[in-house]
Amino acid sequence: MTIIKIITIFIFFFIFILKYDRIELPIEGGINMPRFITDACLNCGTCEGECPVSAISEGDGIRVVNPDECIDCGACEAACPVSAIEER
Ligand code: SF4
Ligand code: SF4
Repeated sequence: MTIIKIITIFIFFFIFILKYDRIELPIEGGINMPRFITDACLNCGTCEGECPVSAISEGDGIRVVNPDECIDCGACEAACPVSAIEER
């Protein structure tokens, strides 16, 4: 009986890890964001025009990605002329 309890707890713990490992924290600056724009950004706006969900906007001298809007499509990364967009 005890081994069944241990296995049940293990399964619930495994499901918990699978579920909450996917949470993306909306921390400004790039941690756990689907796409992150680095300081190499020239603020040209090309990426903003390519984003299908308008997740990119003008920040403080560079463009920024709103992690709540980004659907992780990669269109901005492909369009950037200086490779300033990275996947996180
Ligand atoms: S396309 Fe690249 S350089 Fe231009 S605004 Fe976007 S991240 Fe910056
Ligand atoms: S990955 Fe796609 S949805 Fe996310 S910011 Fe870039 S273009 Fe927009």
